[in-house]
Amino acid sequence: MEEQIRVAVAGAAGRMGREVVKMVLEDPSLQLVAAIGLKNEGTDAAVLVGMPECGVPITSNLERALTESRPHVMVDFTTPASVYDNTETAIRHGVAPVVGTTGFTPEQIDLLDKQCREKGIGGLIAPNFSIGAILMMKFAAQAAKYFPHLEIIEYHGDQKLDAPSGTAIKTAELIAMNREEMRQGNPQEEETIEGSRGGYYNGFRIHSVRLPGVFAQQEVVFGGYGQTLKIRHDSYERAGYMPGVNLAIKKVLEYQGMIYGFDHFVDA
Ligand code: NAP
Repeated sequence: MEEQIRVAVAGAAGRMGREVVKMVLEDPSLQLVAAIGLKNEGTDAAVLVGMPECGVPITSNLERALTESRPHVMVDFTTPASVYDNTETAIRHGVAPVVGTTGFTPEQIDLLDKQCREKGIGGLIAPNFSIGAILMMKFAAQAAKYFPHLEIIEYHGDQKLDAPSGTAIKTAELIAMNREEMRQGNPQEEETIEGSRGGYYNGFRIHSVRLPGVFAQQEVVFGGYGQTLKIRHDSYERAGYMPGVNLAIKKVLEYQGMIYGFDHFVDA
């Protein structure tokens, strides 16, 4: 049997982290070696997700967990406030980060890329691990060549911390690569209520809807002569991200430097 990939999960007690723990434990080619979380210290990570004990307790000390468990990969689904430090720590330990937490600045990604290259390891920061969402972004970028007038509307639960979502920013960046910068709308338009037109990016607008009951959805609406085109993706549950996270854990070890966007791992 090939060597198992040793995986640490940061944010293991969180909503995404628990799905990752379950996925890792269910894949015989992966081995859960560390589970980092702020609460539930000492609780077996498998028990926390309703599975038989696996002998990996939740610990809050990332530094020590990485030193003692020597993972190949660290998956991070924590919070925008802690993810940068966590990722830096993983790289310092020569552990390839696979990061789903959103909220990085471009400067931070550049710095982390440099650190990965210095260590000779790969890393991935992916605002969205859903294959459907990746296709939605790629199709939107293609459509922008023919429909340069567009708006992005993204919908998430009301407890999400950052806006717009990492997926919306990534979509905007991909679209901007296929579309000349152009300020849309009436040059004389005025907002009578501040923020009504949404966030400005490269001449188009991004709207962030935050409501209880919503999971994760995004629509890119294109307007042309006598027609509109809508490209929409709806995510209904966290388990839907796990095939993507599983693929990322396996592929990240083939890369050098910090890759930004799961689209680089998905041919379309
Ligand atoms: P969540 O349920 O709040 O989970 C975050 C967990 O991380 C919490 O259990 C929190 O512990 C823990 N945590 C915070 N700081 C930590 C640290 N320094 N070390 C270890 N654990 C720490 O949130 P979620 O719904 O799982 O989402 C997590 C992140 O993933 C968010 O940024 C979200 O936007 C993103 N996300 C990404 C994707 C994608 O496909 N890329 C998909 C869904 C969500 P406490 O509760 O004790 O503070």
